[in-house]
Amino acid sequence: DKLEHDGKLPILPPGVTREVFTKAIVELRNILGGGAEEQTTAAAVVVNDKPLDDGWYLEHPNTHDAFHLYDQEDTVSSATVYPGSVTDVQKIVRWANKYLIPIYPISIGRNLGYGGAAPRVRGSVVIDLGKRMNKVLNIDGGNCSCLVEPGVTYFDLYEAVQKGGYDLWIDTPDLGGGSVLGNALDRGVGYTSYGDHFGNHCGMEVVLPTGDIVRLGMGALPAVEGGDSINPTWQSFQYGYGPYSDGIFTQSNFGIVTKMGFWLMPATEHLTFAITFPREEDFEQIIDIIKPLSARRVFGNVPQIRHAVQELAISGKKRKDVYDNPQEPIPAEVITSVYGPEEQRKDNLKTIRQAFSIIKDAKFVFPDEVPLSHYLHSRVAICAGIPGLTDLNWLQWRPNGSHLFFSPISSVNGQDAQKLYDIVKKRHAEFGFDMMPAFCIAPREMHFIDCLVYDRENADEKRRAVKCMRAMIDDTAKEGYGEYRTHILLADQVAATYNWNNGALMKLNETLKDALDPNGILAPGKAGIWPKRFRDGVQNE
Ligand code: ADP
Repeated sequence: DKLEHDGKLPILPPGVTREVFTKAIVELRNILGGGAEEQTTAAAVVVNDKPLDDGWYLEHPNTHDAFHLYDQEDTVSSATVYPGSVTDVQKIVRWANKYLIPIYPISIGRNLGYGGAAPRVRGSVVIDLGKRMNKVLNIDGGNCSCLVEPGVTYFDLYEAVQKGGYDLWIDTPDLGGGSVLGNALDRGVGYTSYGDHFGNHCGMEVVLPTGDIVRLGMGALPAVEGGDSINPTWQSFQYGYGPYSDGIFTQSNFGIVTKMGFWLMPATEHLTFAITFPREEDFEQIIDIIKPLSARRVFGNVPQIRHAVQELAISGKKRKDVYDNPQEPIPAEVITSVYGPEEQRKDNLKTIRQAFSIIKDAKFVFPDEVPLSHYLHSRVAICAGIPGLTDLNWLQWRPNGSHLFFSPISSVNGQDAQKLYDIVKKRHAEFGFDMMPAFCIAPREMHFIDCLVYDRENADEKRRAVKCMRAMIDDTAKEGYGEYRTHILLADQVAATYNWNNGALMKLNETLKDALDPNGILAPGKAGIWPKRFRDGVQNE
């Protein structure tokens, strides 16, 4: 059997000869079933032999990181496989164990700014779960929950809820094209009261690195005879009985999640608005005002403090048009929502107005006061769980715009916020980047999301972007802050900052990795966790 390919030879998985690779791919094609839509077996495995195309958000590649940080070829796959069923996923995993070929699961692969669809180890086989496993399996209007497959995007889930006429909201991140399941596994966040995506999941089905399959939570109980093939309480109670294992399948390489349940928010009324502040020096105080309001849930969601430059970028402006002096003082704004019936919204708004009255020239801006083209309207939609794409506009800020996220966590107070802000400001100035920071403020912690926009066709700019990121990771770690998520190529550095007690956490992770994935085939290096066989010589560092 020969492997047909149109162009260049695919990059090989580490330690696998071309002969073995060819044999393995032919075998993989043979063992995969046609699936529901009668896909030919050849189409279910596509070798990565074409020129790499970065595409754009809606046509993103599953062959490499569209927002490459180093060389475009650094994190490329050897092939992509498209399973059509959970059984296919199990077959792929067993196949990978047989040939010791690393596999890298993605749901949609739009994890832009964190590595996209790219595997950490060059030549891995990407498992694109989303293409064929993309059903909303259930929406339960009474229980306010759903059960989805990996390929369900926020747009898909929103549409399914609308079509079914359910009085429910979904919760979406800034961009609606990502996978509901994939985002929750990376512990992404959104902007309604259900913004903690992992926190609002209920039930998982996981294919383990050995090919065994397990259902977590109440799903571990058998289905009821004569009923559905799933246990009826799977999406009602998160914990089930025994250790709560769901967390170990997030930001990890311990399993492939094939189904996941989520709670949906009962629809409610809401008012989303902005508060603008003209002076940077009020920043610390603004955070301190937000803190108690957030803890007492006067805000119905996670208020976001944004930098004005970010808003300019989101409004579709280009850097060269608007902004030539990165040293000028920077105004800020808070965008937030109050939810519930009118009385409740009025009360909460009154409390918020009172709290901010001590900041000079703070100004409240409501959606009905600004034109429809204003960015605030897209936030109104997002804060009501309506997915969109407006935030893609950031990318126009620079030519060939790509972005990286630097996202440390701190507790909620002005001093911490100022410290983080100063670190980021100093490093951005040093390496020549604009600041586009936002603070997302939950009751007890803040996600500081700094969006570093760079030109991916400019080698020097890429080098500076990586240096800037690495410096910020070190600077913040010295002050006791850690990132909640990072780009796949920065994972080792971030994981190494969580090193209390001689790296006890990584020792635990490695113990789990070795137990669950003895052959080290699943996403080696993800979250800085390397299986035994890779531990001495890290690939493509
Ligand atoms: P999105 O397109 O929603 O941003 P991705 O599909 O890129 O999400 O997935 C985000 C991250 O989660 C990736 O790093 C990927 O490795 C991991 N991931 C995605 N889907 C799965 C899955 N079904 N099982 C295990 N890990 C997954």
